[in-house]
Amino acid sequence: MTTQELLEFDREHVWHPYTSTINPLPVFPVERVDGVTITLADGRQLIDGMSSWWAAVHGYNHPVLNKAVEEQIQKMSHVMFGGFTHRPAVELAAKILKLAPPSMDKLFYADSGSVAVEVAMKMAIQYWQSQGFGAKNHFATIRSGYHGDTWHAMSVCDPVTGMHGIFSGVLPVQYFIPQPSVKYGEAWDETAIRPLQDLLEKKSDEIAALILEPVVQGAGGMYFYSPMFLVRARELCNRYGVLLIFDEIATGFGRTGKLFAWEHAGVEPDVMCIGKALTGGYLTLSATMTTGKIADTICAGEAGCFMHGPTFMANPLACAVASASISLLLESNWQQKVLSIEKQLKDELSPAVSFRGVEEVRVLGAIGVLEMKEPVDMAVLQQRFVEEGIWVRPFGRLVYLMPPFIITSEELSRLTHGLLKVIGGK
Ligand SMILES: *Cc1c(COP(=O)(O)O)cnc(C)c1O
Repeated sequence: MTTQELLEFDREHVWHPYTSTINPLPVFPVERVDGVTITLADGRQLIDGMSSWWAAVHGYNHPVLNKAVEEQIQKMSHVMFGGFTHRPAVELAAKILKLAPPSMDKLFYADSGSVAVEVAMKMAIQYWQSQGFGAKNHFATIRSGYHGDTWHAMSVCDPVTGMHGIFSGVLPVQYFIPQPSVKYGEAWDETAIRPLQDLLEKKSDEIAALILEPVVQGAGGMYFYSPMFLVRARELCNRYGVLLIFDEIATGFGRTGKLFAWEHAGVEPDVMCIGKALTGGYLTLSATMTTGKIADTICAGEAGCFMHGPTFMANPLACAVASASISLLLESNWQQKVLSIEKQLKDELSPAVSFRGVEEVRVLGAIGVLEMKEPVDMAVLQQRFVEEGIWVRPFGRLVYLMPPFIITSEELSRLTHGLLKVIGGK
C-alpha cells in the first residue's frame, strides 16, 4: 500500500478512538518513533507532548526496553496463567509491591486500565458480599473523574465530562459528590469534605467503595486537588465502613512528582489500580492490588475465590518490559527530571494566563494544563500543532502537555513555545 492508499483504507474501514465514521477527524500516518521524536510518513518530525496517553515515560524505542522484550520473546511470549506461573510475573509483582503502599499485599494482573478498575470494583463487591452485606453494591465517586471505557468503569466516570453521558440511562447509578473544591496548593477548608460526609452518613449501607483518582484527575478534567481531601476521605471511609479505591492508572510512576500520588497525602487505599506507564508505553498491562485481609475475606466467601481471570493475564512480554521500565525509572534521576519539567512548564506556560481564550494555567509534576474558556476545535488545532512540529492532542476545553521524562529542556521549550504560538494565535 502507498501511504495514500493506507490513509484511504483507514478512513473507510478503521475506527479510531472517539471518532466518527461519517466525518472522521484527520489522522497522521506515523513511520517510526524514537526518544521524544515522532516521525511521520512524509518525513516531518514532531516532538511528543503526550507520551502516548501518558504511558511512554522513557520515550520511544528505548534500547533497554527493546532488549527486555527481545530477550523475553526468545523464551516465551505468552503462556496461560491458570495453573502456571513464570519469572516475569513474579519478579514484577515483587517490584511493584515494594513500591506500593505498605498495606498492599496481593496483586492481580489485568490487561488494561479499564479492566483493572472493573477488577477493583468487583473486589469491593465480593468483599462485602462474603460478609453478608450484599446491599453494599453501589459506588461513590467525585465529579470530573475518569476511570475507563468498560461498563462499570464508565458508571463512575463523570456523567458529563467523563465521555459516557450518552449511556447514563442504562449504566448502573452511582453516587456522585462534587469535585473537591480545594485545589492543590490551596489552604484546606473543612467544608470541602462535607458532601462526602453527608453522602456516607445517609447511604453507607448501600456503598461498597469510594473510588477516585488521588490528587490529579486526568481525562475527566485535568484537575489537581488538595491531598487533605484524601486524608479526610480515608477517615470517613473507616468510620462508615466503605472501602477506598485509588485509581493511580494516570498518576502512577512519577507523573505528579511522587512515585504514586497517594504519597502526597500519605494515606493508603484499600485497593489500588495501576496501568498506563507500567510498561513504559510498550504493551498494555495493568494491575489491581489490595490488602491481605481484603483478599482473604473475598476468598472466604461463597465463591471461594476472586471471580476474574483474563485470557492474557500476566502476559510475560508485558511483565518483562514493565520490570525493565520500573528498574530504568528507579535508576534514573526521575524525581529531579520531573521537578525540572515542572519548573520549566510553570515558567513557560504561565504567560498564557493573559491570553483571551485561556481560563487557567496549572502545572503539577510533569503535567501542564491550559484550561480554555470554550471547547477547542480539535481538527484545526491538531493540524496547527503538527505544522509547529509538536504533538499535542487536546480534548474539550483542555490543552495539556505530558511529555516523556527524558525530554531535554530545549525540546520542552519547543513544545511550550509551539503550544503558546498556536493557542495565542500568533
Ligand atoms: C486511562 C485511564 C483509565 C483506563 O485505562 P485504559 O488502559 O485506557 O483502559 C482508567 N483510569 C484512569 C485514571 C485513566 O487515566
